[in-house]
Amino acid sequence: MRAIVQQLVNTPDIEIWPGGLLRARSNHDARALARARHVLRRKRDGRFLAADLPEGLLPLVHRLRQEPGLDAALDALDAHPAHRRPGLEHVRELPLDRLHERLHALGLDDDYGERTALPLVAEPDWLALAGFDRYRRPLWLRVDAARAWSHLHAAALRDDVVLDAISGYRSHAYQLGIFERKLERGQTVDEILTVNAAPGYSEHHSGLALDIGAPGEPPAEESFEGTSAFAWLRDNAAGYGFVMSFPRDNPHGIVYEPWHWRYGDQR
Ligand SMILES: [Zn+2]
Repeated sequence: MRAIVQQLVNTPDIEIWPGGLLRARSNHDARALARARHVLRRKRDGRFLAADLPEGLLPLVHRLRQEPGLDAALDALDAHPAHRRPGLEHVRELPLDRLHERLHALGLDDDYGERTALPLVAEPDWLALAGFDRYRRPLWLRVDAARAWSHLHAAALRDDVVLDAISGYRSHAYQLGIFERKLERGQTVDEILTVNAAPGYSEHHSGLALDIGAPGEPPAEESFEGTSAFAWLRDNAAGYGFVMSFPRDNPHGIVYEPWHWRYGDQR
């Protein structure tokens, strides 16, 4: 029998969080969040939109009814079984059409994919809670990757190696939001691409990839390759289904990322 895991229900514009995982930024939100079964959260900027309370939906923004994507989110909330025992057979990919539109608006389509030979990566329609990251934030992964990560993490511990999760699933909207804010401040797309991955092309969108660190080491630095955590991963990760996506001199022209590991061989 599969254990019940906490689930993040995903729609194109809005995420539906389980109650009890989000911290409020105001007293008003805190009272609502404390009682919420679910919280609707805008993906682009993380804004809390509404709390799903036992007595009904409590708006946390003005004009909730005009919020883009609200109907799709409410449908997903209704369709979501409260105590589903989740398996991979229940995972669907969200469509890519909204991503295409927004990439086009940013002047970002085709060119980047052609240059790197990276495909656009769809988001899954729900993710499983895979524990917490180094910063005590919930770590979301696709359910198969979440299970594999917990096995990998436990196996490392048995060899006295601590693996820190740095970050797992990230949405298209989150990455697009970074680009939009930097463009508004006058940066060019090429300048932003030297620091941030192009929205839509990151393996983090699939929920299959995570960045791994070692305690006391800075996150996402090449120096990670000198740690005992990296040595352990190099020798053992493949046995748990994880591969390093961007080794030195990879054919995509992406910088060496010894911290970035992907579950399965799906791109
Ligand atoms: Zn990464």
